[in-house]
Amino acid sequence: MVTVRNPDNNGEVHTNENNVCTMCLGSFGIIDETIPRQCINENCRQKFCSKCVSHIRIYNGNNRPFQCMYCLKEYPINCYPEEIDILKQQLWNDKVIKYGIERTKHLLITNCDPKELDFDIDCRRRQLLNLFSTHKRFCKETHANETDIEIENMINQLSNIIIHSKYHASNSIELYKMLYRQAISLPDSDDIGSLYIRLCEQLSVDISNNEFSSIFPNTHKKMNDWMYEQAVGEEFQPKLYHVINAIEQDLVSQWSNPSVTPSTSIGVIGYTNAGKSSLLNRLLGVSSLNDDQAAPIGSMKTTYSALRFNRKEPLIYHHSINRNIQIPVTLVDIQGHDKNRTSDNNMIEAGNYHNEIKR
Ligand SMILES: [Zn+2]
Ligand SMILES: [Zn+2]
Repeated sequence: MVTVRNPDNNGEVHTNENNVCTMCLGSFGIIDETIPRQCINENCRQKFCSKCVSHIRIYNGNNRPFQCMYCLKEYPINCYPEEIDILKQQLWNDKVIKYGIERTKHLLITNCDPKELDFDIDCRRRQLLNLFSTHKRFCKETHANETDIEIENMINQLSNIIIHSKYHASNSIELYKMLYRQAISLPDSDDIGSLYIRLCEQLSVDISNNEFSSIFPNTHKKMNDWMYEQAVGEEFQPKLYHVINAIEQDLVSQWSNPSVTPSTSIGVIGYTNAGKSSLLNRLLGVSSLNDDQAAPIGSMKTTYSALRFNRKEPLIYHHSINRNIQIPVTLVDIQGHDKNRTSDNNMIEAGNYHNEIKR
């Protein structure tokens, strides 16, 4: 888990701790891969995104039962963490507010000023255009996919409604209202704006995925390799230093960009006694536990150490252009959680990893 903080926004990373996947720390949402699911074990109830659950399913293949990533409960065959309907509804309601759907609804059902309706349609068209052009900038695929076509359709429909409403008498306003409503709603749904919300959210998810792969290309490739190799080879033995090397390459190329000066925290997450602190000490180049820099092994508290990777570089990385700018890299040894004692108050709550890393 790597977070890069931009000094321009005071180092704040916005997440709602209840609404992130325990495994990948990604936010839950209304798009298929981000839909929240929950462990069926009453004592666990950890939340995971659908994408993480499906990765485990791919890894397991058809023969092995599903196992919770947190409490390690083995599920009956063909049984998986369940979708959380209440949270799904809550997420949808949040999106309705985020995209100002109530305002549009009000315009559609009242005797509104045609100018206000035009303005509302034009705002939606512009928002969609903005998201779409950002998506196109990051996206490496050259041919349009299904979502791209749907988005282009909606943009065209909204443009047409605006053009026609300008040249026709206001007595056809009811027709434009109907066309507007149809353009932004799913065909078989009573929810006004449902298609608009879906497309905007899909674009946002695609943009953040593409953003990650363009800023961390080596790390992204390694993650994909692992996922694929896990699925094909039983004897696949992942090597942690391959990932650390990939992160290092990506960070170094970020730092060589004069316009980027992010400080960076790398969280190490795992069960108690899994070897997190030992890994950290190796990365820090600490050979003896008596060394003051050594991360305490078996500690119940999160520890923070400055990282110099596997090089003889200073603990603080100096910016390549302006030597006065220093970029601290912090390794965060997250307090482990004990798989046998999931209800112990002494342990860090899963899903709070992000807060620990930010501190
Ligand atoms: Zn996830
Ligand atoms: Zn569980």
